[in-house]
Amino acid sequence: MTAPSPGAGRPLPQRVAGAVRGYAGDPILRRVTAVVTLGAALGSVVVVALPGRASVLAGAGVPAAWLVPGLIVLTCLAEITVVRLRHGEAVEELSLYEAALIIDVLLLPPRHALLAAVAGLVLASVVQRRPAVKALFNLGTYTAAVSVLVLLAQLIGGTGGALTVRVLAGVLIGTLAFTMVNLCCLAQILAVINGAPAWSIVRDEARLSVYMAIGTVATGLITTAIALHAPVLLPFMAMPALAVTYAYRAAARESEERSRSSALLLLSEALAGREDVVRRFLVLVREAFDADVGVIVLRDAEAALSVESGEPSEVRTGPAPAYLAGLRDTDAAVQLTENLPLGLRHAVVVPVEGGGGRFGTAAFATRRRRRMSTGDVTLLASLGNALAVAIRGAEHLERLTEERSKLQAVVEQSAEGIMVIDGAGLVQVWNQALSEIVGVPAAEATGRPLGALLEVPAAEEQALLLPVSVQTPRVATELTVRRPDGEQRRLRLAHSAIFAVGELVRDVVVISDLTREYRTERLKSDFIAMVSHELRTPLTPIMGYVDLLRTRGERMTPQKRADALALIGDRAAHLSRLVEDLLLASRVGDHPDEAALQVNVGTHDLAAIVRQAVGDLGSDRVVLTEPDGAWPARCDSGRTVQVLTNLIGNGLKYSAEDRTVRVGLRRDDGRLHVDVRDQGRGIPSDSLEKVFEKFHRVEDPMTMSTSGTGLGLFIARHLARAMGGDVTLRSTVNVGSVFTLSLPPAS
Ligand code: ADP
Repeated sequence: MTAPSPGAGRPLPQRVAGAVRGYAGDPILRRVTAVVTLGAALGSVVVVALPGRASVLAGAGVPAAWLVPGLIVLTCLAEITVVRLRHGEAVEELSLYEAALIIDVLLLPPRHALLAAVAGLVLASVVQRRPAVKALFNLGTYTAAVSVLVLLAQLIGGTGGALTVRVLAGVLIGTLAFTMVNLCCLAQILAVINGAPAWSIVRDEARLSVYMAIGTVATGLITTAIALHAPVLLPFMAMPALAVTYAYRAAARESEERSRSSALLLLSEALAGREDVVRRFLVLVREAFDADVGVIVLRDAEAALSVESGEPSEVRTGPAPAYLAGLRDTDAAVQLTENLPLGLRHAVVVPVEGGGGRFGTAAFATRRRRRMSTGDVTLLASLGNALAVAIRGAEHLERLTEERSKLQAVVEQSAEGIMVIDGAGLVQVWNQALSEIVGVPAAEATGRPLGALLEVPAAEEQALLLPVSVQTPRVATELTVRRPDGEQRRLRLAHSAIFAVGELVRDVVVISDLTREYRTERLKSDFIAMVSHELRTPLTPIMGYVDLLRTRGERMTPQKRADALALIGDRAAHLSRLVEDLLLASRVGDHPDEAALQVNVGTHDLAAIVRQAVGDLGSDRVVLTEPDGAWPARCDSGRTVQVLTNLIGNGLKYSAEDRTVRVGLRRDDGRLHVDVRDQGRGIPSDSLEKVFEKFHRVEDPMTMSTSGTGLGLFIARHLARAMGGDVTLRSTVNVGSVFTLSLPPAS
């Protein structure tokens, strides 16, 4: 009695009916019209061409008077009695309609069989209030298919009066043809909806439809045979069908349980994954509970997230459904059967609450009549709780990640070097500043011991071993590091160690670069040593002669007194120059503001200035190549004498007593140049620029053999530049140096 009937015997599905409404006026309606017309045409052929009286089993002894109405009712009941079996997203409908058709065809004359089939269908459509378009399409399909069935059964089977092989063949072939016509009509509509060609739908469904047709024929034939010969056995026909239905339901339930388990497994992964938790929860829980709609309204969001069955699992954002309005604070699972949107029969609403927070409300609704079991509702409530815990966890994780990245940024952007060393003494963290200070990149440092990374003098190697202990977890040490490029840096390492059960877990070390301070400190002490030496040198003879003049002055010859006074005057002048240099240098920074040096620029004869400078020095070691004519230059004559005296004085000071210093003038590149050439010790190439820095002296101040402040060249260059010129230098060690003063010519 039961024949499963997807494809062939399937009436226009609900989804298609909905789509038909949506597609009004387009190809679907045209196809519905074509199918209805085909049905009407084939039906007319049956009515006109086939005899009105003889049925296939004519003479079977069935009283004809109540047969037609009886079979109409039977056909209608068969159409209504659909056994719906769900598995997963799919719904399988086992219809009894086709089996009833076989009975109609076997027991009634062709016209009456067609009438019973069509009238039964119309009656069922009215009883079930099917949409008009859907009912009309089904009517057209079935009229066409039944007409073909009736025609073939009548032509092949004849009217033998008994269930002969011919009759069986006629009904079987007729049913196969019925199936195909039905399938082709349905494929027309599905083709438009799915966008696939109709023939491919027919091909995919044909095999299953043929099996269904055979089942239908078998059920119809057996029922007819039993009805004719042993009607008392008819109720037993229901038993195998019932058994099959229940077995199928059990199998479907089991497969449902299996798919729920796998969905729940995925859900547990999703909840642990902490990424996109809410959306994945929605999709997987709807799937696991086979709900038609899943909605989540989160507290801090106005919009709701929802997902529906039948669509690819796509989460949409939209307004929160009205039925959740009063339930946004519910603290227990609630079942709803009223005020649900159209089509939904039943919903379970659960709070998303747990882990110390309330995050929102979730609802899962179905179109089915069957309610969710209490077990399902409890499970859903627990899942709501699990979601809340996962959201809280995700929030914590996000905060933690944010904190971590902030901390990382602080470590990375710190101007101080920062490193973290683990319990095994290996570098874990090595920030950018530290890479720059010691010249070792982080990639090279991580995972290695400090001793393998830093090159330190043998005496300081001890400082590389971690100096921390449980008693003194905070220690600061200093050491000198030689970078890979050879430069030395003085570092201060401030350790802060963490111990657990007496074992070192981690040592956080902040490294400051003391090189500058260290150098400044050295410079300061060098400076004090230099200044006190330089000031004392002229003071000693001054004080000696003043003392001499005071005690024995009257007894001294006038010549000796004059000599003593001249020497005192000379040393005092030296002292005064020294003080003036110091004052000047203190006014001018390393990057000088030229205005700090007061120069009075005018047009002067450079040759005369050079002569004066050489004369002032009064040394017979200075050889001046006499220039021809006048050399008008733009300069401050007094300052230019000062610069040249310094350059020539240095030439004398830094070369042996028997060596000369040559001074000459030349014109080059539109400028005037005075070259001061000595044959002295020369200056190493790495000091060629440094000698112009404030207080820089090539010799070590502690062991210096010549006196000096390291200010002469600094002041000379700044004065020259203030006049629009410069002082430059070429030198070869142990050969000699050439200092050149360049000045702009007077135009
Ligand atoms: P000071 O002569 O007072 O030390 P300067 O600024 O004039 O200061 O010179 C700076 C340094 O440059 C000197 O200490 C010396 O080492 C070096 N220097 C200057 N002139 C010469 C030179 N002609 N030959 C060799 N070294 C020189």
